[in-house]
Amino acid sequence: MTKQLLNIAEYQPKTATLGPGLRFAIWVQGCPFTCKGCVSPNWVPFQLAQAIQVAEMADRVVQTQGIEGITLSGGEPMMQAGRLANLLEIVLEKRPELNVIVFSGFQLGQLVWEEAKRLLSFTDVLIDGQYIANLNDSQGLRGSSNQCTHFLTDSLRHQADYFFNKQRNVEFHVKDDGVLMVGVPTKDFHW
Ligand code: SF4
Repeated sequence: MTKQLLNIAEYQPKTATLGPGLRFAIWVQGCPFTCKGCVSPNWVPFQLAQAIQVAEMADRVVQTQGIEGITLSGGEPMMQAGRLANLLEIVLEKRPELNVIVFSGFQLGQLVWEEAKRLLSFTDVLIDGQYIANLNDSQGLRGSSNQCTHFLTDSLRHQADYFFNKQRNVEFHVKDDGVLMVGVPTKDFHW
């Protein structure tokens, strides 16, 4: 299973904008939804981006010191749920202290297929639902107020205030092919 390929749009080994503490963020390529105002439209088409073996990606996460968790977003993580579950299985076996946040356009009740359930079994917090631009109230980690924050385990429940009232901020990271913006922008943010 470790030779399976993930189709990764981007990854950022350390960010302070997508959950408590420093986190390893991975964005997958491809999303079946078409939310108006999507912050990552280039990552919506189902096309090949960076093909990275599950084991290699896992190793990059495991080797990253100073992080307290992993955030999966996209694109739509549930479209690669089985492979991401395999990734988390490897990572959490070696780094069990890490917590996991997943953003999905699907709602929790829709995530009934086996691979999705497996990914959820490694997930501490799921932020679900499609982004609706006119419900962006610039508050918290979710993009718009229709989206729900589900604490699937207790590990981040004590950080509920962060998830619901966090002051949003974004980071800019220089990459080989340009600048990567990381974070959940406020309603009036433009760049
Ligand atoms: S679910 Fe997320 S990635 Fe997909 S279109 Fe909506 S905002 Fe964009």
